[in-house]
Amino acid sequence: MNYQEKIQLLAELLEKSACTFALTGAGISTESGIPDFRSPGSGLWTKHDPAKVASVSAFMRNPGAFYELNMQWWNEYFFNAEPGAAHLALARLEKQGFLAGVITQNIDGLHRKAGSEKVYEVHGHMRTCRCISCSESYPFEFLVNQFNSGKNPPRCERCRGVLRPDIVLFEDPLGQEFFYASRDLSRCRLLIAVGSSLQVYPVASLPERVRQLVIINRDATPWDAEAELVINEQAGKVLTDTLSVLEKNQEGGDPHDTSKG
Ligand code: NAD
Repeated sequence: MNYQEKIQLLAELLEKSACTFALTGAGISTESGIPDFRSPGSGLWTKHDPAKVASVSAFMRNPGAFYELNMQWWNEYFFNAEPGAAHLALARLEKQGFLAGVITQNIDGLHRKAGSEKVYEVHGHMRTCRCISCSESYPFEFLVNQFNSGKNPPRCERCRGVLRPDIVLFEDPLGQEFFYASRDLSRCRLLIAVGSSLQVYPVASLPERVRQLVIINRDATPWDAEAELVINEQAGKVLTDTLSVLEKNQEGGDPHDTSKG
């Protein structure tokens, strides 16, 4: 099947499915300038050891060193990132009724910034942080401002406990957001995995919950053999092209007809 045929098939699957979720990973944000973890050569794990950079034990052992390291790449890649073509296309697919929502492993907040409304951020986000002693919650900037004024580690203004970001670190359990996401996904027919190596569990087990799986990813994944369709291309291009086909089809009639199942 050539590229154009794959795009046509993806558009058809979306038109026929009454409920579709997208599952996104770090690869959807590489076009926004944020490196992923596992791409050979450019992935962050080729430069940093995850256990030293982003684990609960590293944080608890030395929160100051945790912030020194992480603040460098948050500053370099995350704080000024803007949504790319793939984020914008997913937001539009939701508005047009083709997508029930997005389940993302990303912490960068770019789906919301792109206009997606139903977003499960199963690995957390960078909008808030909390005190590890009294759980008081603060905007993320509260932590960043303290760090920038030389207060490292940043601390709670109520009890002086250390602040931690509301992101899921290695060794953290997944929060409620994951359970809501997998519950909603169980009611769906189609899952489109975008820019994920599908290697991080339990998120990588989510494809088990649907009848049909489409994978849009530059490299191979362990789920490829199970998928209805695999497209090894840039996420932004694939989703923009699919959206164009759907919009053209829509001009000729209502896609939300009763033949959807
Ligand atoms: P991963 O690094 O394991 O895999 C990313 C995949 O995306 C790779 O297989 C690569 O082939 C593919 N890819 C890269 N650029 C692409 C593009 N433009 N189009 C299509 N495919 C592309 O990422 P993962 O599966 O999300 O798992 C890693 C963990 O990393 C996640 O838990 C996530 O929380 C975290 N992470 C998040 C960010 C972020 O928030 N942007 C960045 C780095 C890591």
